[in-house]
Amino acid sequence: MRLAVAAARATGALSRRTGRGGTSLPGKLLMRLEPDAIGTLSRRLEHGSAVISATNGKTTTAAMVAKILERRGRALVHNRAGANMAGGVASALLDGRGDTGLFEVDELWLDRVVPQLRPRAALLSNLFRDQLDRYGELEIIADRWADLVARSPETALVLSADDPAVADLGRDRENVTYFGVDDVRVALPGLPHATDAKHCRRCGRPYVYDAVLLGHLGHYRCPTGDSVRPTPQVAADDVRLEGVRSAYFTLRTPQGSKPVKLPLPGLYNVYNALPSPASTTSTTRSAPPRWRSSWAPASTTSPPGSRRSSPRSAAPRRSSSRAASCRSCS
Ligand SMILES: [Zn+2]
Repeated sequence: MRLAVAAARATGALSRRTGRGGTSLPGKLLMRLEPDAIGTLSRRLEHGSAVISATNGKTTTAAMVAKILERRGRALVHNRAGANMAGGVASALLDGRGDTGLFEVDELWLDRVVPQLRPRAALLSNLFRDQLDRYGELEIIADRWADLVARSPETALVLSADDPAVADLGRDRENVTYFGVDDVRVALPGLPHATDAKHCRRCGRPYVYDAVLLGHLGHYRCPTGDSVRPTPQVAADDVRLEGVRSAYFTLRTPQGSKPVKLPLPGLYNVYNALPSPASTTSTTRSAPPRWRSSWAPASTTSPPGSRRSSPRSAAPRRSSSRAASCRSCS
């Protein structure tokens, strides 16, 4: 292992000097020399690791989580450069000098990285179809995540209650924290036309949406009664979207409610921030409460004004989507 690490580090140094290769090159070499390198190196992290995956927003969420963990004094090993496949994770572990791993992981690589990494927590936020077209059907990815979750009982899950396929991963699990947007006043009139996987895969019936919030994210239920949006323990209420500048919401947790200001626009950034312990505002005034998983909700600032004043100002990077079918009856 030592020789492999030395060779990979030397390769990384050389590629940096010559301007060749990406940030994942040393990690790729390391994994070729030592296939279990991610597992071996991650076991040295005193506080273990956490992973974040989603089709949209995972880099933003990871950055927020990193901030709050660093504020708590954690030294992070973090693939900040966005190299989020196995080579990037291995490169971060190769270079890192920290006590806590924080890894953004590509949705298709999650089931290759997690078995080695064995993270203490996994934050899984959304699965949108269009970006997944490079791989195949959304349902295939959802199935792979479900298999992975079943094989990772020791990992605490932080899941979106508002994405049916993601929420369903927590079925039959105890160590799950759900997050979601409870304010239905920011709901859309209906599902986008591109949303095409809205049928229950077992009974074939479409989900009934009581509120569509973003793409296929919302408040849904299968008419057979076999699947319903979980009640989130961490919720955004009183959402107010300020054009292209900012967003406000009231963060509700079992510990109480606090106002949050985001210097980021759109409901999708509320979704990005909601599960994270971070606030990107510069006026953070309180430490986040401890959470039962290794995550904690966002710290807060006081928002001006009261209610939202504008509709969602921007769509997610790729907004058309295929909503997940009811997975509990599929
Ligand atoms: Zn159903």
